[in-house]
Amino acid sequence: MTYNRKKTGSFLRKLCRITPLAPTRLCFAIASLFAPFPGLALETVDSLNSSILVFTLVLMVIIVGGGLIVLLLHHLDSSSFRKLHASLTYMPIAVAIIRRKDGALLYGNKSCRELLGIRKLGGRYLYPDEISAQMMFDFLRPFPFRRGFRNVSEELQLARGRTLKLTVSGQSVRYQWQSAWLLFIVKPQKPTPATKLEQEQRVFQQVLNSLAELVYFQDKSGHIIGTNRAFDRFWRGRVSEGVMDDEDNVKITNTSSHTWTTAPDGSSRLLETNKTLLIGDNGEAIGTLSISHDVTDWHEMQESLKQEIEKREITEQALAQRNTLLDSIMNASTDPIGLYNEHGIYVGCNEPFARSLGFRQEELLGKAASEVLEPDKWELFQETDQQVLRDGLAMKMDDYVILEDGTPIWYEVVKSPYRDPTDGTAGVLVMARDVTERKMAEQQLADAIMELQEMSFVDSLTKVANRRSFDEQLRKLWHSHIREQKPLTLILCDIDNFKAFNDNYGHQQGDFALREVAKVFRSVVRRETDEVARYGGEEFAFLLPNTDIRGGEVVAEKVHRHMAEKEITHHYSDVDTKLTVSLGVATIVPLPTQDYGDLVEMADVALYKAKAAGRNCTMSMSDSDC
Ligand code: GH3
Ligand code: MG
Ligand code: MG
Repeated sequence: MTYNRKKTGSFLRKLCRITPLAPTRLCFAIASLFAPFPGLALETVDSLNSSILVFTLVLMVIIVGGGLIVLLLHHLDSSSFRKLHASLTYMPIAVAIIRRKDGALLYGNKSCRELLGIRKLGGRYLYPDEISAQMMFDFLRPFPFRRGFRNVSEELQLARGRTLKLTVSGQSVRYQWQSAWLLFIVKPQKPTPATKLEQEQRVFQQVLNSLAELVYFQDKSGHIIGTNRAFDRFWRGRVSEGVMDDEDNVKITNTSSHTWTTAPDGSSRLLETNKTLLIGDNGEAIGTLSISHDVTDWHEMQESLKQEIEKREITEQALAQRNTLLDSIMNASTDPIGLYNEHGIYVGCNEPFARSLGFRQEELLGKAASEVLEPDKWELFQETDQQVLRDGLAMKMDDYVILEDGTPIWYEVVKSPYRDPTDGTAGVLVMARDVTERKMAEQQLADAIMELQEMSFVDSLTKVANRRSFDEQLRKLWHSHIREQKPLTLILCDIDNFKAFNDNYGHQQGDFALREVAKVFRSVVRRETDEVARYGGEEFAFLLPNTDIRGGEVVAEKVHRHMAEKEITHHYSDVDTKLTVSLGVATIVPLPTQDYGDLVEMADVALYKAKAAGRNCTMSMSDSDC
């Protein structure tokens, strides 16, 4: 230990700084403190001087002693640092001492210098260019100073994008009277083959832990040698329950088992466990791997699927039965029955139905109605189909079909909507009935009725209107002419000497002559409203609406002329060698007080007059003559 003069001097300088006086002046200052006391005589000055001297000496002793203590402490401190340095310098681990307040490097041992590239210059330690004190300060700032930290891995961002990964532990110390971090720095070793294996094992364990399945390994004697996290969670506190118990664990090959158990949350779960034999490098069995899947949901799904399939099978059976039944009904029916879906595709039919469309049953199925039916018929059918599908109501209609062999058939068609409950498709069911016979009968009846109607108004021999028709017509015209106050003319006509004709030429010839006369009369009346009727026997009548007496006479004149032109031979007539007629024309503008019988009577009188006048002539009468 050496006395340090320099340091003692500095202590005194510090004291003088506290008391702003020079050391000698200090003594006098202390002595002057005693001057004001009156009790002190000059003789006491010597003793006073000696007191000051003693005081000064004591003070000096204190100062020197204090300095010596400081020097001692400093020496001890320096010695402890030297010892510290000596022990740290060759330590294999890198050690650095960093000032806490600014990250300055106070010390770095050999390993640290090598690791970080620290330089030592005199007694100072310098960071390499790539590391700054600020960088270290920033790194250490987050750690609690009192407690320190352990194994913190940090990547220092060096210049030029380089990084340096370090694992650092830190401890707070006082170094050279300053707060500092004592750092132990380790550079992570490159993984050796042994650590690679460890890493692989770690990865393997992580993979196992990430699985939702429960995984466990057993050795040859059945002891569990490894599990994953899912297994541990599920079987916590009851591992034996979760392990398949085999007498000889390695005798098993691959097995699978299902077990109902209770999950940690209390729910019942079904586990499917697959146990696989593990074979070592030498081909010997080394243990087993068991993987348990929670197959409860799958099992429940399977159960419901099974039930669904059973239900479906029952439904399908019923459907098949129904289909067979329907097929039997359809095929037994002589009436055409067919089904087509909403797109107009035939999906079912019997043979008569297919035949009515000119196909065989198997040919028609799957065909579109649009390609089978005539365009106009298809259009009509489409309209009715849409109506049936839209309204959901059956519809009846008649259809006329000519079969391939040319046979005409009338069908009464009933179209009904249907919906297939299995697939929800809709369509139309067509049921047709052969109503040809009925239609024919109806037609014949209609013809007969028509004939009857004609017969009741037409004279069967001459085909002109009969007496009934004449009367009906006269009554109608009479009333309309009363309303309109127009002239109505009636011509009554009687063949001259017709009895002699019949008698000489025969009755058949007489009928023939009557038909010829009727033809002549029909050719005379041109107006739509004029009518010729057989009034009775060989008498005819002309009803001429809205015709005055002159018009009637013109028609009468035409009758005579046409009769003469017809030249029906009658050698037994008193009048001529040809058949002639006598005509009585009567015209009335009828009054409501009159009766149409009046008109007939007037015409009859006129006719009588014509007969009386020698026949083959016309006599006229109008209401002005009455
Ligand atoms: P008139 O000139 O005076 O009329 O002499 P007419 O011989 O024609 O006498 P009348 O008019 O009385 O004669 C009626 C005869 O007409 C009787 C009958 O022989 C004949 N006749 C009446 N109806 C038919 C008939 O439907 N067919 C035939 N063939 N003859 C008929
Ligand atoms: Mg007559
Ligand atoms: Mg006559």
